[in-house]
Amino acid sequence: MSSHISFFKSVENYVDKAAAFTDIPKGLVEQIKACNLVLQIRFPIRVGNDYQVIEAYRVQHSHHRLPTKGGIRYAESVDQDEVMALAALMTYKCALVDVPFGGAKGGIKINPANYTTEQLQNITRRYTAELVKKNFIGPGIDVPAPDYGTGPREMAWILDTYQALRHGEVDSIACVTGKPVTQNGIRGRAEATGRGVFYGLRECVSHAEDMKKLGLEKGIAGKTMVVQGLGNVGSNTAIISQQEGDVKIVGVSEREGSIHDPNGIDIEKLLAFRKETGSIIGYPGSKHIGDARAALELPCDILVPAALENQITTENAGKIQAKIIAEAANGPVTADADPILQKKGVLILPDFYINAGGVTVSYFEWLKNLSHHRFGRLENRFQHNAFGRILDKVVEFTGKSVSDRDRELLTRGGTEIELVNSGLEDTMITAYQQIRETFKQHPGIPDVRTAAFVCSMKKISSDYISMGIFP
Ligand code: GLU
Repeated sequence: MSSHISFFKSVENYVDKAAAFTDIPKGLVEQIKACNLVLQIRFPIRVGNDYQVIEAYRVQHSHHRLPTKGGIRYAESVDQDEVMALAALMTYKCALVDVPFGGAKGGIKINPANYTTEQLQNITRRYTAELVKKNFIGPGIDVPAPDYGTGPREMAWILDTYQALRHGEVDSIACVTGKPVTQNGIRGRAEATGRGVFYGLRECVSHAEDMKKLGLEKGIAGKTMVVQGLGNVGSNTAIISQQEGDVKIVGVSEREGSIHDPNGIDIEKLLAFRKETGSIIGYPGSKHIGDARAALELPCDILVPAALENQITTENAGKIQAKIIAEAANGPVTADADPILQKKGVLILPDFYINAGGVTVSYFEWLKNLSHHRFGRLENRFQHNAFGRILDKVVEFTGKSVSDRDRELLTRGGTEIELVNSGLEDTMITAYQQIRETFKQHPGIPDVRTAAFVCSMKKISSDYISMGIFP
């Protein structure tokens, strides 16, 4: 860690800074900040002829709403402080986008690349069994999801283990989200975080007066972007920004290094190149400019750090040339680098807003699982028939005809992916507007991050107050 203060402490500091712009009583601010439950686990797994002790955590940061919600990460960086900080960010994230959950996070301190699929399965199942034993998982208790180093495969193992231990529980499929679509998952969850980053960015750059302050034109089309990390979040952000927003990706970095091409890099082709060669270095037309952090310093309109925390520190903050930073990863800018960037006039879209798309679609998945039916199953046919009758009348009254293709487009109900994406789009736009209003209403608020924390804290505190704990 290049930052000298702990990650959890730095989240607390942001919250304290925001609290000054609210009238939330001091004791309630302390309660909002506190981690409600921390589970520390050690269990053995067999590797060859020996054993290894696996270090794992699950933290439920806030019980003001239940269940608690948040991903599980597999990374060597995992420790209690990191998981506590990430769980806290989940609390503020869920509140900000009106996802009615408390925040949680889990972590296993491993590099998944060092284990076989079978060993990873053993680790995941054992971890799940420990959570079940401690009553730390369940549709109404705490609902994990993917995070760095995990994906639908791990979620399917978690579900299967849970169901084996909780046989007959009617809502068991809602005990985890981010599952494969064929295993009670929801379409659109895999790309939801990246898609949410795109919607948030598009909304942000649509305000001409805000863009003017940055010396930018309004509108997403033609903006230049640099992406750090081509994992799930980074690659989907880049692909969707390129395809749906006409954004030009001028720089990319991965663990092997950074590449630059001011003429634009086709991300799908780059991903295919990396799959084939094992590296982004040498991609046709691009220049190799240095290590994994080099791309962060490239000139661009939008910088998207989508890897891990602590990427922009006091060492490189002064060299950042981007006008907007979208924190697709959690905590990519350290607390001491943040003021350096603010002073330079960089607009930072904070992690707990801009990457909230994942948990938003997890919420839709959870709702789908609890309802035990697919969205639209009851009403789609009914709507189709009703729209058809209206269209028939229009045809009758106007004497004009409608082509089969137009009839199909005008009468059909939304598919699951369309409903998910529209719910996600609305969520990201609404939350941005709330943050922007708060920012405008309190002239003293220094930056968007603080404004976003103010929005979240107001919602969390009113939940506590309506519980009657803090009259
Ligand atoms: N791990 C993701 C996050 O940091 C998603 C959490 C979820 O879907 O519950 O927001």
